[in-house]
Formats: sequence, structure tokens, C-alpha cells
Amino acid sequence: MHELAVAAQLLQLVEAEARKAGARRVLAVHLALGENSHINEGALRFHFERLAGWEGLASGAELRFRREPMRFRCHECDADYAPSVGDWRCPGCGRLGKLVDAGDELRVEDIEVEV
Ligand SMILES: [Zn+2]
Repeated sequence: MHELAVAAQLLQLVEAEARKAGARRVLAVHLALGENSHINEGALRFHFERLAGWEGLASGAELRFRREPMRFRCHECDADYAPSVGDWRCPGCGRLGKLVDAGDELRVEDIEVEV
């Protein structure tokens, strides 16, 4: 049920952006999906397609996912890094960095439309 609510929100946002751009239809939506977001791509796609319907602006739009890992920042090395599973230490110096992105978000990166 989680994906249904997310899909509804996503559709609202996508349609609002498309209207703002004066688009006739939405071709694709590029999403960054955090690896800890617990959102199932297939389920989200399924609900999005159903909600978008046959005649809506986002009808037939393709959802494209980019997987985004957690990100930490190491102040010793002055660098961001994506830790390996179960070990959050900096690969450069072995210290534990500061969490800057928990990888638990779904973010719209780009919307391709036809005007
Ligand atoms: Zn480091």
C-alpha cells in the first residue's frame, strides 16, 4: 500500500510540472531512488501507470530509476563516499564519516515532456 500513496503523490507532482511547462504529455520521469527507501520499483511503476490512466498527461510515461546509495562525508579526507554494506567507515582513512544522505528518499530528477 505504501507504493500506492507514493505513486499518487508522484503523479500529482509530475502532472503539475507538465502543466506548468505547457506539455501535451509526459514521456518519462527520471527518479533517484535511495537504496534504503524500501520502495519497490515494480509496485511503484504498476500503481503509477494505473493512476495515470489512459488519457491523463502522464499516460504512458516511463518511470526510470537510478539507484542512489547512502552517502557519508569524511572530514579527514575531505571527501564523500558510499560505504560498503555493514561497514560505514571511510575507505580512505578508516574513520567513521558523517552521514549526509541516508539513501531513504525518492526524488524526481527530471521530467521529459512533449510540448
Ligand atoms: Zn577518510
